[in-house]
Amino acid sequence: MFRVGIGYDIHRLVAGRKLILGGLYIPFKKGLYAHSDGDVLLHALCDALLGAVGLGDIGIHFPNTDTRYKNISSLKLLEAVKSKISKAGYTVSNVDSVLIADRPKIGPYRSTIIRNISVVLKIKPAQVNVKATTSEGVGPVGSKAIASYAVALLERKR
Ligand code: MG
Repeated sequence: MFRVGIGYDIHRLVAGRKLILGGLYIPFKKGLYAHSDGDVLLHALCDALLGAVGLGDIGIHFPNTDTRYKNISSLKLLEAVKSKISKAGYTVSNVDSVLIADRPKIGPYRSTIIRNISVVLKIKPAQVNVKATTSEGVGPVGSKAIASYAVALLERKR
């Protein structure tokens, strides 16, 4: 049996923070404001995976009031989510995602981001897709904030 999940997240760009996307540090003049490392792509992905198994959302499992998660690498959160879906009896068939950012350009980092995600989820890079787009200067998403959508398809282990 297959199950699908959707995830969405957005974080504000602020000075004085490191920009981390897909578990990778990307040199940029601003970073994403958050309790964790602000990795909006991995947060959307965590929510898609949790959604597919009916386990709520990232805020339920990793509350931003909990000091254990202060500045935590979101790769660790993704790892914890992967273990929850394994325990629930599911494997990941594929994940797809969209990053909405006017700058920086994600292209040069895409293959490393895909590798990071595939390693944590224990799937092949071909099962992970990361797309990037700008918002064409329309509204604050992409310029004042970076947003991400993700979907995940899971299959029940035999
Ligand atoms: Mg978030």
